Amino acid sequence: MNEQCKDVSLYFYGELDAQRAASFEKHLSSCPQCRKDLAFLRQVQTALLPSAAPEKAVERVLRRPAVGWWRQMWKPVLSACCAVFLVCVFWASVSSQRGLTDERVEWVAYVSAEADAEFNSFAADLAVFEEEF
Ligand SMILES: [Zn+2]
Repeated sequence: MNEQCKDVSLYFYGELDAQRAASFEKHLSSCPQCRKDLAFLRQVQTALLPSAAPEKAVERVLRRPAVGWWRQMWKPVLSACCAVFLVCVFWASVSSQRGLTDERVEWVAYVSAEADAEFNSFAADLAVFEEEF
């Protein structure tokens, strides 16, 4: 076995640089074992090509990503639904707080108007009381 015989698979996969590939091709013309190995590698590659596979097997392989798609996507879809739900809950709580705040503002305005009226009537009473004494 020649030192160059080790390059057969690298040559087959196109991993040799141009100089080494040319050198291996020269070796190939004089080495029956490398020709045999190269022929075997080509046979294996041809056997593994999808076009060589039975049509049903190809269909099964092509159909598989559809199942994989849902398996991969159910978590992001669920998280998106949860996010939408949380936004809705947050929005509902913010808008109900805003309603409460509006009620409080109305109540404070009512109470302070009443207090003003009471204070004014008390001030008037006090003025009358001070005039008397
Ligand atoms: Zn060889």
